[in-house]
Amino acid sequence: MNRTIDLRSDTVTQPTPAMRKAMAEAEVGDDVYGEDPTVNQLEHRAAEILGKEAALFVPSGTMGNTIAIKLHTEHGQEVICDSRSHILDWELSMTAWFSGCLVRAVPTENGILHWEDIRRVLRSGGIHSSATGLIEIENTHNMAGGTVYPLEVLREIRGNARSAGIKVHMDGARIFNAAAASGTRVSQIAAEADTVMFCLSKGLAAPVGSILAGTDQAISSGRQYRKRLGGGMRQAGILAAAGLIALEEMPKRLAEDHHNASALASAAANLPGLKVSKPQTNIVMLDVCDTGIPAPDISRALKAEGVLMNSINPQTLRAVTHCDIWRRDVDRAIKLLAAVLDRRAAETHA
Ligand SMILES: *Cc1c(COP(=O)(O)O)cnc(C)c1O
Repeated sequence: MNRTIDLRSDTVTQPTPAMRKAMAEAEVGDDVYGEDPTVNQLEHRAAEILGKEAALFVPSGTMGNTIAIKLHTEHGQEVICDSRSHILDWELSMTAWFSGCLVRAVPTENGILHWEDIRRVLRSGGIHSSATGLIEIENTHNMAGGTVYPLEVLREIRGNARSAGIKVHMDGARIFNAAAASGTRVSQIAAEADTVMFCLSKGLAAPVGSILAGTDQAISSGRQYRKRLGGGMRQAGILAAAGLIALEEMPKRLAEDHHNASALASAAANLPGLKVSKPQTNIVMLDVCDTGIPAPDISRALKAEGVLMNSINPQTLRAVTHCDIWRRDVDRAIKLLAAVLDRRAAETHA
């Protein structure tokens, strides 16, 4: 029996044996009182690694982004982001629901905003229009296929935003992938945003949790919003213990996921009717339009063969590599994908 090859997302990663051991042995306390030593250690190390004053352990990336947007904005302001952003499409309108802000979405080719794109939609406020309260950037960009912000693009955005008096929040759910792909220290990337959220629970394989990092002041207000949102966790050191291993050990191996994603992309690009561009990190977008088969149908057929790969729209499949996907899984997934396409082509021509 072959094991399931789960390429739906890097959220499916299982905690490593070292994580499970650390969780069992974690020293804990009541974190709402600030007394959980393991959570405190995780927050301290996360701030240090990101080069920020402070950090906050939150149950999810969505909560981290929600808190950050609330911190930087006032009700009725606008938040500028790319039009395929996670905050816009996958966070249940929390920008509107919790912060009372309008998302000002800017279309981009590859998820990467440039200052020029942002400048055009900036609003200074007044009697007829509400002011831009925040610029949000997603690095790596999930739905654009794991694209990475070049450091100079980030610097240009941050420099100009600062001059305009506008804060920048980075949805860095996969900031460690961005760092690994660009050979940059994560602190250099984080330096170009006022606050940064990243996920411990994706490619870094922790079972639960994300981090929001920023100034002491931002994080201390953030702690209050976390409690309001129901994110005040008690003996959360059990989770933070796994988070510490995710943070310290797992970034080292992300290059392997990127390598596997590249291998998957180049093999898939050779299949008839598939258009696949070279991935920058661990996310591969497969355009199946020219096969004439709807992406959800391919997804279903693959599932029957033990390969999980979601369709994100009628013509695109997304495959995400991670630590529980090995090179031989990639090879098998490609073989099965080729077989599914062959079979469907034969059926239509019969
Ligand atoms: C996964 C993800 C998040 C946060 O997701 P949660 O499931 O709430 O942890 C935020 N932004 C991006 C780009 C993501 O991929």
